[in-house]
Amino acid sequence: MDRTEENRLPGLYIHIPFCKTKCPYCNFYSTTALGCIDAFLKALAGEMALYPERFPHFDTLYIGGGTPSVLDRRELETLFKSLRHTFSFAPRAEITVEVNPADFDADRFAFLRDLGVNRLNIGVQSFDDGVLAFLGRRHNAREAKEAVAWACRSGFDHLGLDLIYGIPGQSLEGWLEGPGYAATFPVDHLSCYQLTPERGTPLGARCQNGEFDLPDEQSQLDFFLRTSEFLGRFGFLHYEVSNFARGPGAMARHNRKYWDHAPYLGLGPAAHSFDGKRRWWNRKSLARYLEDLDKGLAPVEEDECLTPDQLRLETLFLGFRTRRGIDIARFDRDFGSDILSEKAEILARYTQEGLIVIENGFIAPTLAGMAVADQLALI
Ligand code: SF4
Repeated sequence: MDRTEENRLPGLYIHIPFCKTKCPYCNFYSTTALGCIDAFLKALAGEMALYPERFPHFDTLYIGGGTPSVLDRRELETLFKSLRHTFSFAPRAEITVEVNPADFDADRFAFLRDLGVNRLNIGVQSFDDGVLAFLGRRHNAREAKEAVAWACRSGFDHLGLDLIYGIPGQSLEGWLEGPGYAATFPVDHLSCYQLTPERGTPLGARCQNGEFDLPDEQSQLDFFLRTSEFLGRFGFLHYEVSNFARGPGAMARHNRKYWDHAPYLGLGPAAHSFDGKRRWWNRKSLARYLEDLDKGLAPVEEDECLTPDQLRLETLFLGFRTRRGIDIARFDRDFGSDILSEKAEILARYTQEGLIVIENGFIAPTLAGMAVADQLALI
């Protein structure tokens, strides 16, 4: 079984919908009602019980949010007990927990490792106090550095950090100090996201009011290209638009399922699921989620059955975000097409423009192509 086939097994995502405070740029669903954690964990166990016949076995588990690290030891134990009681996990399953640097110390890292967690993703965002203050984060640069150092000493197989660039007024050199600092640790995965002030968030409102300017398109492209080149010097493969791994074995297996269109089950408020054709998503409200599960109902807000055209477009859209690109044989088999002949003209143009390469059975974006991945998907 090659990596692609292996990646067709489903992944499990758990959304922990709690944060101690809300960051002004964030549009993920979460609430600060920490008093509801016990009720949530009970409801979550009820939601798990709805699925083991359809989704009995996983090879990745990703606990995200929200802020999973607001859970204390007892709550984490309860969560893992429910998970292991209801589902089974492959012996070498990737088990990731997202952590906030403000919540963690050496004891808590060790505890997570004892629970079977083998991969941490730390929401560092920046090692610069000014940037962290702009982002409204709870932690400061010292806490971020300590959390990374502790995590490195705690014996996890894989360690990833999230970093954000494109902060108003940030220079390229100033930004690269963050990835450069991270690269001095045995961190094997970096997610570098461009700041996007989303509508409906306090930061989005400030941006619309003209309180600050974002870097222009050319600067954003410079950040993207220079980050890739800079991290390449430290052995990081730029394998997805926002993601870098120190070697193929460090790629985030769970996230690859999203990009490979593999099935996944998402549990918790606002979580999304996909079974290969159908996608559904949960209530984006803890109160409604608890109410539904109290009545024994699945807390599903809506679902949609993707048409072959939608699946095809998503496959292109997701595939062009990855350096590996589109698997030509699989694409032709899944969509009854012959993409190389049907799209010969535009593929030739993109090749000439240095946006794609066609080799070894894949249509793969170059680095310049990944920078315009959404546009490539419209072939
Ligand atoms: S960025 Fe993370 S910690 Fe901040 S509000 Fe969003 S989910 Fe919570």
